[in-house]
Amino acid sequence: MCDKERKILHVDLDAFFVSVERVLNPQLRGKPVVVGGEPGLRGVVASASYEARAYGLCAGMPLTQAYRLCPQAIFLKGSFPRYREASERFMGILGDFTPYLEPVGIDGAYLDLTGFEPLYGPASETALRMKKRIENEIKITASIGIGTSKMVAKVASDMAKPDGLLEVPLGEERLFLAPLPIAKLPCVGRKTEKVLKGMGVTTIGELADLPASLLRGSFGILGEVIHRYALGIDDRKFEPPQAAKSISRETTFIEDTLDPPFLKATLRYLSERVGAELRRDRRRARCVTLKLRYADFDTVTRSRTLREATNVDQVIFDAGLELLERSLGQRRQRVRLIGIGVSSLVGDERQLSFWDTSPELWERLDRVIDRLRKKYSFTAIQRGQTLLLKEVFPTERGDYVLKTPALSR
Ligand SMILES: [Mg+2]
Repeated sequence: MCDKERKILHVDLDAFFVSVERVLNPQLRGKPVVVGGEPGLRGVVASASYEARAYGLCAGMPLTQAYRLCPQAIFLKGSFPRYREASERFMGILGDFTPYLEPVGIDGAYLDLTGFEPLYGPASETALRMKKRIENEIKITASIGIGTSKMVAKVASDMAKPDGLLEVPLGEERLFLAPLPIAKLPCVGRKTEKVLKGMGVTTIGELADLPASLLRGSFGILGEVIHRYALGIDDRKFEPPQAAKSISRETTFIEDTLDPPFLKATLRYLSERVGAELRRDRRRARCVTLKLRYADFDTVTRSRTLREATNVDQVIFDAGLELLERSLGQRRQRVRLIGIGVSSLVGDERQLSFWDTSPELWERLDRVIDRLRKKYSFTAIQRGQTLLLKEVFPTERGDYVLKTPALSR
């Protein structure tokens, strides 16, 4: 069966954000470091160094809890443009080895090296060369798992961390997985883990021994998937990366707010970020969606379909503003988070309208602003409506520093 002869690699950078921070500041080496924000703020741990993990810290944990467990840790806001840059270089190195590359998030990827070995030698040697190049060129260690499926490769890279390489030979998948705790299996989240433990199942081997029907009864389709995984079976194909189906930007406020000028200014800023990405990707959108999360965590989204696909900041903002005003009219409660997104994306061709030339003019203006911002900084040129943001958000090298780190650019 050709399926079983697959050679799949899962390559994952170790403690990625923290590792990039350590390249920028070597004094952080050997110390517990947390990226995600300051402990006084809301938010969660985005990445923790292995020294911090020894105290029980992990990604996704609220910062306040992380601080309680390890007050001596160094808490960093994060420098997302640098992470993106390191990620691009990392993916570039992997792309030199094979075009069969499926990125997973910012710091990991699956590679398909099936049929590679007669020409390039054993996959494990190729993996070692890959590790060496990554370490030489971006000064970060990677861990690599090799197996006959994505699932096995992923679990193997996890087990190899940090700075390791682990290959699971054909036929030994089940043996490799059996002694591991069930949480190591992809698809077994916290909830599923709890239910399985309640059933007396703690290892992947015990999970594999359960009748498939029992798992299907308790978890539906997911039960079938995890049972097959436990047996070492995963037929998932390679998915070449696809263009995004939507683009959105959102941010949580430091304090919940019901101040209309401030909400509008933030919406305008987020619309500009969405529009800039549309123009950069040479795409237009037909649908605009507003997202609001109220102080009580209730989250609502509202959408509007446009008459004509757009990439113009003003058009995106106008649609978002209409949705915002309608929402606030219906419910006057403090807002915790605001976001705007676009979907129903199409290519860049624009139908010229004889009657209304203003979108065309706006688009030209947007492109000029894009160029200026690329050259100087985001705040180098601003619309009057967003000027008040300068008083609310701190700036760093001419860019806003928002609570949502990815938006601080
Ligand atoms: Mg990683």
